Amino acid sequence: MRTHSRRRPLRCTEMSEISQKIRRVIFEKYNDSNLRFTNDEIFEVLKKNGAIDKSLTIDDMEQHFDELCDSGMMRNIAQNFTTQWFKLFDALEKLQCVSCQGQSYICRSEETKCPACGAAI
Ligand SMILES: [Zn+2]
Repeated sequence: MRTHSRRRPLRCTEMSEISQKIRRVIFEKYNDSNLRFTNDEIFEVLKKNGAIDKSLTIDDMEQHFDELCDSGMMRNIAQNFTTQWFKLFDALEKLQCVSCQGQSYICRSEETKCPACGAAI
């Protein structure tokens, strides 16, 4: 068991910026509930895009993947050391929040709240 000593508390209704970047990668590359994808694959894409800080490690990403599982968007189907395999419950849909104008990628199985500001969508 790894510890979560570096885990920062999340604001209750808002999701982390990194988890939203993960949503976007999933939407663009793995948006099919029959597909499996790994945290390593998403992490590589985020690093290649320069979407996340170069100093981040796969361990730093864990809380953000956990967050997406907790929200009901996807589930963890297997794990081997630090590699985790995930599957979406439903394909993600791109929505624009009327409250903050932000674009979000949301799954129908989730509560329909804007991940950025918490407003109902
Ligand atoms: Zn919003």
